[in-house]
Formats: sequence, C-alpha cells, structure tokens
Amino acid sequence: MVTATNLQSIRNIGIAAHIDAGKTTTSERILFYTGRKHKIGEVHEGAATMDWMEQERERGITITSAATTCQWRDCTINLIDTPGHVDFTVEVERSMRVLDGAVAVFCAVGGVEPQSETVWRQADKYRVPRIAFVNKMDRVGADFHAVVSQMKERLGARPVPIQMPIGVEDGFVGVVDLVEFKAAIYDDELGTEYRKVEVPAELLEEAKMARDAMLEELADFDERIMNAYLEGQPIEESWIREALRANTIALNIVPVLCGSAFKNKGVQLLLDAVVDYLPSPVDIPPCEGINPDTGEPVLVKASEEEPFVALAFKIMVDPYVGRLAFCRIYSGKLDGGSSIYNSNTRRRERVGRILRMHANKREELDSASAGMIVAIPGLKQVRTGDTLCVEDRPVVLESLEFPEPVISLAVEPASKADQIKLAKGLEALSEEDPTFRVRVDEETGQTIIQGMGELHLEIIVDRLKREFGVDVKVGRPQVAYREAIRKPARAQGRFVRQSGGRGQYGDVVLEIEPLEGHKGYEFVDKIVGGVVPKEYIPAAQ
Ligand code: GDP
Repeated sequence: MVTATNLQSIRNIGIAAHIDAGKTTTSERILFYTGRKHKIGEVHEGAATMDWMEQERERGITITSAATTCQWRDCTINLIDTPGHVDFTVEVERSMRVLDGAVAVFCAVGGVEPQSETVWRQADKYRVPRIAFVNKMDRVGADFHAVVSQMKERLGARPVPIQMPIGVEDGFVGVVDLVEFKAAIYDDELGTEYRKVEVPAELLEEAKMARDAMLEELADFDERIMNAYLEGQPIEESWIREALRANTIALNIVPVLCGSAFKNKGVQLLLDAVVDYLPSPVDIPPCEGINPDTGEPVLVKASEEEPFVALAFKIMVDPYVGRLAFCRIYSGKLDGGSSIYNSNTRRRERVGRILRMHANKREELDSASAGMIVAIPGLKQVRTGDTLCVEDRPVVLESLEFPEPVISLAVEPASKADQIKLAKGLEALSEEDPTFRVRVDEETGQTIIQGMGELHLEIIVDRLKREFGVDVKVGRPQVAYREAIRKPARAQGRFVRQSGGRGQYGDVVLEIEPLEGHKGYEFVDKIVGGVVPKEYIPAAQ
C-alpha cells in the first residue's frame, strides 16, 4: 500500500533553460541515474544501459509527461515540465506556481542568452529558488567563470560556485566539490561510477581559492561562518550546507554547479544539490487563493491536516490511460474513490484512481497528500487551471481572468476529412489553455484561432498536426496592436518584431519603438490587422 510521503522529503522542481542549453538531455540523465537503482539487476554493461535510455527517448515519456516522479537518496523528486517558450504568460505562470524550486541550465559556451534572461526574470517574479548548472563543459570554448560573471552582470544574480571544474573541453574530467573539498572524477563513459578522491596536488591552490570565495559569499549572510572565517577557525561542512540551503531558499544566492549532461558527467552531484539546497513544500510560504463566494483571501498551508486543495496544472491524453489531469496537491489529503469539488466549474466529481508517473512505469496510489504531484484519470469536467478542493471550503488558486489574445490566425482543414479532427483538436486545446481561443469569422466563415503570440499559435498548429493528426492550412497572422501604441506616434518608428529583430514590410509587429528626432507616421488606437502596412515603413530604419 502506497501512502503519503513525508513533506520534507519532496522536491518539486522544474528545469529552466534557453533552447539548446541541454534541458532535455539533463532531464533524461536525471531520470536515467535515478532510475538506475531499480534497473541495476537488468543492466550488465554500458550498452544495455544506453539501450534503456534510447527506448525511453523513443517512447517519449520523459518529454511528454507533465511531471515525472523519481527518487534520489531519501527524497522524492517531481520533475515538472516547464514550457520551453516564454510568450504565453498563463502557462509559464502556472508552471512557476506548481514548482517549489528550479534548476537553471546554461550552456558553458553560449552562457546567459536573451531567452535565459526572460525565464530568469519570471522565476524572480514568482520567487522561485534556483540552483544553476553550467552544462556542456566538454564543448570547445566552454568557460565556467564567464558564465558565472554573466549571471551577475546580465541577471543581477548572486551566483556562488560550489564546484570548480577539473579540466575543460576534451579534458573535462570532473569537478572539485568545494563543500566537501573532494574531487569527483568521472572515468567511465556512462558516468555511472565516479570516484571521490582528495583534491589533486596541482589543483590544491586554485581549489582553496575557490573555496574561500564561496565562504566569503556565505559569510555575508551567515554569522557563524563569518566569525570562523575571520578568526581562521575551521568551518564545518554542515554549516556550509545549512548556509547554502537557507540562503538559496531565501533567494539570496544561487549555488552554481557544472558538468556535461551529454558526456554523463556531474548529473549525480546536481541531484545531490537538488536534495540539499532546493526547498521542500514546507520550506516556502503557503500559497494564496481566494474564496470564490466572498472574494476573501484563503491561505493554503502545506499540511496534511488542512482541507484538501489542489491545482490541475495540465491535462494530457496518455496513450494507455486516456485523459489525465496532472494535479499539484497543496494541502490536505485525497483518497482514491473519494469526491472532489471543482471551485471553478462548481461541480463535484468522483476520483477513481490516483497515479504517479515515473519514467518507466505508472504507480497506483491509495491516497495522496500535500506536496505531491499526481495524475488523475477519468475526470471529465476538469480543465487546466481549475482548483480542486472540498465543497465547504471552496478556494480558487488561479485567477479567472485571462489576458485578451493579441494575435489571430485563420486555419482551414486541408481536406474534408480533416474537418472533424480539426474541430476536436481545437476544442481540446482551448479547453486546456484559457489564453487560446477559437472563433468563427462572421463575414468569411473562416475559423480564427487567437493566442498570445506568434510562437504560441505556431505551437498550437504543430500540436494539431502531431497530436490530432490534422492537416491544416494556415493564413497570415493578424495582430491586435498592443496598448503600447495608444497615442499617435509622432516620431518615426523602428518596428520591433515579436521575435526581437527589426521589422520589414510584411512582418508581424507587436510594438513600435519611436526613434527620436524623426516624425512622420501616425498610428490610430489599436489597429487590428497584422502585417505592417507598406506606407508605415519608415524610409530609413
Ligand atoms: P534543450 O533544447 O535545452 O532541451 O537541449 P537538448 O538537451 O536537446 O540539447 C541540445 C543539443 O545539445 C543536443 O544536440 C544535445 O546532444 C547537445 N548537448 C546537450 N548537453 C550537452 C553537453 O553536455 N555537451 C555537449 N557537447 N552537447 C550537449
């Protein structure tokens, strides 16, 4: 019988990264190393292990599950999928809400890129404690210290390296763990075994300096460490761990680790850091909801003793189990076979089974409680973003108001056969994403889809193809100009594309930045109609 887990031993985390930094590879390796424990009997040699990983990749479980549960040391880690894009806020906001901490992955060559900045700012806004993983240390041009500097300069973060890389590029063989002051050397290809040894003599000087730098950072926040440091007294490892944990959770610092997910180096130590430094559900402030009847705030505390409250953060269709509602339970307890109240739809529904998704299996639970992430099959009425609770203490966690969509696209089924599939797909997608809307244009009879940005609709069209097998023809995007252009612009404008680059005739524009000292073009309040009209293109940009 599987029951509740001790709250302190849960880590609900997401991996945030710029596209290509290695989020997928790192997630896969996390599931590989955590799953290995259960696989040890079957795995005799490297090749077999890799096969298992390849199979996982093919079945795509690691990528398609909204949350995957794994075990590391005495902790249950729920790896929550975060959107890889940043342009529709509700989904990003929701994923920030359901996770308690994050691993920010950076590429050791590319460093902090514009998209990493956006994700970082979002995590700042939602006060998500983070640790950083500088990945791809094996690549030509990898530079750990440059990435740490960029984190300071571009993100305004306070990065504290808790490791020092040993070698770089082809010569990257491991790290010095500055907390334990031991070297972790990876000799085998799969990285399943690594040796913890004394810091090699030739690195001793550099490693001591790196450790002092870490201690100086911590001394700013921790008196015990400061006093011992100033007096030249020994500093115990447990003090360092405590200071790192407390100050990561307080968002004072970001511990920085490094490795190469692809070359299987450093991932176990990253998992150790997740357990050691990222918060459990009880280490962060209780979440706030509102009572939908009175509008009064309701504090939802992470405790099994409190009334049940959960957020359905993702609805997915699993090929074997069917429609699954992924829920984060914030407080109380849920038993299989019991009833829940949906405070958004004001309906009751019965919960049959409660599942937990692992990389390689589904586990059935008898009950689930505060802090856990579970998947519930068979809930027909529940939509993404709905709050599930008990009827006599209704609470809504996610605001019921969503921003108006800013971009529209006409879609058409490529053939008659696609027509029904298209309607079905659009219905399912709009049900799970409240910022995505569908309407029929009265004049033309065209089906118009609306969303929060070009990329948002691109993803929708892609999902229509992949998940619903619909072949769609897509029209030109139509943009509702944002309020930024409320006043007639006197100055000549530089057109800013949503993707950030300069606009040209035909581009979709979300904002116009006037250039000083130029005059000429007038824009009316909220122009609807997507592409930049030819006459609005300034002669010289
Ligand atoms: P994502 O877009 O952030 O999910 O990135 P992926 O995990 O898909 O990785 C992007 C590319 O970088 C893939 O070709 C990976 O094989 C490669 N990659 C990921 N991690 C590493 C690494 O540690 N070293 C090297 N050399 N390549 C890596």
